[in-house]
Amino acid sequence: MAKPLDYPAMDDCIFCQIVAGDIPSRTVYEDDTVLAFLDANPLARGHTLVIPKAHHETMADLPEDVGGDVFAALHELTPAVEAAVDAPASTVAFNNGEEAGQEVPHVHGHIVPRFSDDGGRPIHAIFGDRPDLPEAELDDIAAAIGDSV
Ligand code: 5GP
Ligand code: ZN
Repeated sequence: MAKPLDYPAMDDCIFCQIVAGDIPSRTVYEDDTVLAFLDANPLARGHTLVIPKAHHETMADLPEDVGGDVFAALHELTPAVEAAVDAPASTVAFNNGEEAGQEVPHVHGHIVPRFSDDGGRPIHAIFGDRPDLPEAELDDIAAAIGDSV
């Protein structure tokens, strides 16, 4: 595969070092702005990470066009990853920010193949009890989100 061009990078970022070719990875996809490679400590066979080549920490930091490129790669790769390991489904997710469990501060999407007997659970299982939110608060939250976009 082609040597990556220069991208805005953080010296101590593992994923920037993978983009630069300084840390080896099992790369499965590359284009001008996106790289995808197998997770080094996979949750399932075929667990793949999809990253922007440029260093952006979270979704909020990601420019809109690069976010579109990352999603396009996820869209193309998800069926390919599933097919490669004969998985009927997958969990596709981002740990977005430290409090959400993001350990590598370079935004990345996980494609984790799922199998009927894998013992895994849906992303709802990350959370405990659901908050009991009054109607008025739901209205306020919806309006606040709408005002922010
Ligand atoms: P996070 O918790 O930040 O959403 O996920 C980080 C993921 O990166 C983990 O699943 C971890 O196994 C993976 N990872 C960490 N360091 C490396 C590495 O050097 N190479 C690869 N291929 N994956 C890594
Ligand atoms: Zn980085």
